[in-house]
Amino acid sequence: MDAQKLYDLFKSKFDAVGIIETKTYQEEAKKMNKIIPEVNYPTMVVLGLAYPKRMIKHTDTHVVPSFYTFGKDYHLILKARMEEVVKDLNCGYTLGVDNHPHDERLAAVLAGLGFYGKNQLIINPDYGTYMFLGIVFLDLKIDHQIILEIHDDCGTCRKCIDACPTHALDDGYDVEKCMSHFNQSKRNLLDDEIQANYSLFGCDICQMVCPKNINKGLKTHPEFMLSGKEAVSILDLFQDSEKAFKEKYKDMAYLWKGKTILMRNAVCLLYKHQNYAYNELIEASLKKLTTPWYVDTVSRLLKRMKNANQA
Ligand code: SF4
Ligand code: SF4
Repeated sequence: MDAQKLYDLFKSKFDAVGIIETKTYQEEAKKMNKIIPEVNYPTMVVLGLAYPKRMIKHTDTHVVPSFYTFGKDYHLILKARMEEVVKDLNCGYTLGVDNHPHDERLAAVLAGLGFYGKNQLIINPDYGTYMFLGIVFLDLKIDHQIILEIHDDCGTCRKCIDACPTHALDDGYDVEKCMSHFNQSKRNLLDDEIQANYSLFGCDICQMVCPKNINKGLKTHPEFMLSGKEAVSILDLFQDSEKAFKEKYKDMAYLWKGKTILMRNAVCLLYKHQNYAYNELIEASLKKLTTPWYVDTVSRLLKRMKNANQA
């Protein structure tokens, strides 16, 4: 197939498009000893969709996740846009956004969508790190690869390394130390982690300090318009059933790990902000929820909040 034609089709729906042969990706992954699933489709399209930088602050009644979750869930948006293109190609395909076993950051570098920043994110010349990635494997052959040109790197900058509150970037990248990892993990949180954590879900710090993001994060798409569900009501978290909460906050990206993680993180934020107004609801939640990591973290913090409230 004419690669330029394929590029134009995807470019009508995405901000950045690179097209490579699947074997280019497979060979590079092999060189780097990365384990990726077998794919028999010969063409790999790597896609980027810009999203806007926006700030919403926590209040006494609502807690806020990382801003990449604002607007409709990006997994759904990217997949819907991909489907619109591939449905007319009349070939086999497989696609993925974020939660899949392929290395889409490696693919993005190979296709020229950006360079690999020391903050572990792909940095695009037009959109900085504010770009969601997705991949599509197609069962068709292209006449040439379309690889975008990138002439940039982090150089001697280390702003993200110095700004990371948990020192996750001190020595490459330690995923276990990363807030965005641990506040999305179903486990008991340590006191140091609770102290560092400032978000209901995710972490934006190493993006916010990155000089490559200056004057970036301006572009948006209709699907990323604020829905009013970006800040999560603490009452909803503790009063609604899982089902009712999921219905109310449907299509929000922070839902994908369920409500209990959000409840645990909300308690961590309430503890840090010395907001004791929800102590009774938190106590009631401990009578209903027996999930060990929830009980461990929340009962520890609730005890301290009750003591502080009585002092
Ligand atoms: S997401 Fe947050 S915790 Fe993780 S590396 Fe970046 S600044 Fe550090
Ligand atoms: S803050 Fe500096 S070192 Fe970190 S990703 Fe951005 S440019 Fe690279």
